[in-house]
Amino acid sequence: MTSDLKNIAILGSTGSIGCSTLDVVRASSERFRVVGITGHSNLELLAQQAVEFEPAVVVVSDDSQLSNFPLPVNVQTSVLAGQDGIIELATRDDVDVVVSAIVGSAGLQGTWAAIEAGKTIALANKETLVMAGPLVMQLASDRGISILPVDSEHSAIFQAMRGGRPSEVARVILTASGGPFRNHTLGQLEDVTVEEALSHPTWEMGPKITVDSATMMNKALEIIEARWLFGLSIDKIDVVIHPQSIVHSMVEFCDGSLLAQMSPPDMKLPIQYALSYPHRWAGPAAKLDLSEAFQCDFVPPDYERFPALLLGREVAERGGTCGAVLNAANESAVAGFLHGRLKFTQIVTACRDVLNHHEYDPNPDLERVIQIDRWAREEILRWKP
Ligand code: NAD
Ligand code: MG
Repeated sequence: MTSDLKNIAILGSTGSIGCSTLDVVRASSERFRVVGITGHSNLELLAQQAVEFEPAVVVVSDDSQLSNFPLPVNVQTSVLAGQDGIIELATRDDVDVVVSAIVGSAGLQGTWAAIEAGKTIALANKETLVMAGPLVMQLASDRGISILPVDSEHSAIFQAMRGGRPSEVARVILTASGGPFRNHTLGQLEDVTVEEALSHPTWEMGPKITVDSATMMNKALEIIEARWLFGLSIDKIDVVIHPQSIVHSMVEFCDGSLLAQMSPPDMKLPIQYALSYPHRWAGPAAKLDLSEAFQCDFVPPDYERFPALLLGREVAERGGTCGAVLNAANESAVAGFLHGRLKFTQIVTACRDVLNHHEYDPNPDLERVIQIDRWAREEILRWKP
C-alpha cells in the first residue's frame, strides 16, 4: 500500500496532541512516514521521538534552546531552529499533511505557510481560526486544500455533517464537559487555585487548554472555530453541557434529526479521522463499552457563571479583529493566572475589557492580525481590575 503512504509533518510533536498523533502513527506505521517534528521546550522528548521515528527534519522551535539539543540524533536527520525551521518543514515538497498542534497563536505562522504551500491541514490549533478565520479559510479555498478538524467537537460535527447536505443543516450543537467547576457558585469561582484549574475531569490536555476548559473560554474559542470552519452564522451554533464527554457534538438537520458522534474521550480518534479521511480504519482509540450501563446528561450552559461563552458568541458574530484580540488577551491572561498575577475570574473580565476598547477593524489583513495580537497581550499586562 505504498501509494497510500502519507507523509506527515507534526508541528508541536511534544505536546499532548503531538504525542497522541504519534500514538496513531505507531499503531498504523505502514500508512505513515513522519517527515518532520517540532518541539519548543521538552527537548529530551523531542530527541526520543527523533530516534524512534527517524524523521528527515527536527525543529527546535525555541532557537535559544538549540545548543541544548542532543546532536546528532540520527545521521539522516537535519536539525533546524525557530519559526523559519517550522516553515521550512511545513512547506517541504515531500510533506502531504501538516498536523498543526502547536499551542496558541504561535501556531498561526506555520499553519499559514503550510496552507500557502498547498498542504492538507489536520488542525488542532484552533487559535489559527480564532485569530484569522476568514483569511485562513479564503487562503485554503484559493489553494484548494482541506482543513480537517482535530478538535473533537469539530471532528464530530464534520463526521455528522456527512449525514445530510450543507443546505439541510439547521444548527450544530457543541458539547462541553463544563470543566472542573461546572457546579461552582460565582463565589467559589473567585477562589479557584491554579492547581484546581489544571485538573480536568474528563480530558488530559496541555496546561493552556486545560485552563481554557475551566473558564469555558475553550468553548468560546470553539464557537468561533466552528463559525469559520463550517461557514455557519452564529444563530446556527449552540452549546450544551455534557459532563461525560461521550457525545462529542451534534448536527441538527432541517427535519429535526440530530446526528451525534459518540466515543470515549480520547483524542486519538479525531486525530486519526483527520489523517484517514475520507476513509476509516481500525485504530488505537478507546471504544465505548455498552455492556455496562452509563449515563449521558445534557444541561443548558449558565452564561452568568461562565461569561466567556457570551464573549465567544459576540466575537463569532462581529468577526474582524475581535478574534485576534480575544485570543491574544486570553493567552496572556491565562499566563497571568498561571503566574499568580490574575485571579481565575479575572481572566474573562480582563478579556472583555480589552475587547471592548480595541480599535475594531472589520477586514484586517494578516499583518494587522499579528499587530493587534501583540497589542492585546500588552494591554493584559497593563490591565488592572
Ligand atoms: P501542549 O501544551 O501539550 O503542547 C503544545 C506544543 O506546542 C508542544 O509541542 C510545545 O513544544 C509546542 N509549543 C509551545 N509553545 C510554542 C511556541 N511558542 N512555538 C512553537 N511551538 C510551541 O498543548 P496541546 O494540549 O497538545 O494543544 C495543542 C493545540 O491543540 C492547542 O491549540 C489546543 O487548543 C488544541 N487542542 C488540544 C486538545 C487536547 O486534548 N490536548 C484538544 C483539542 C484541541
Ligand atoms: Mg475541543
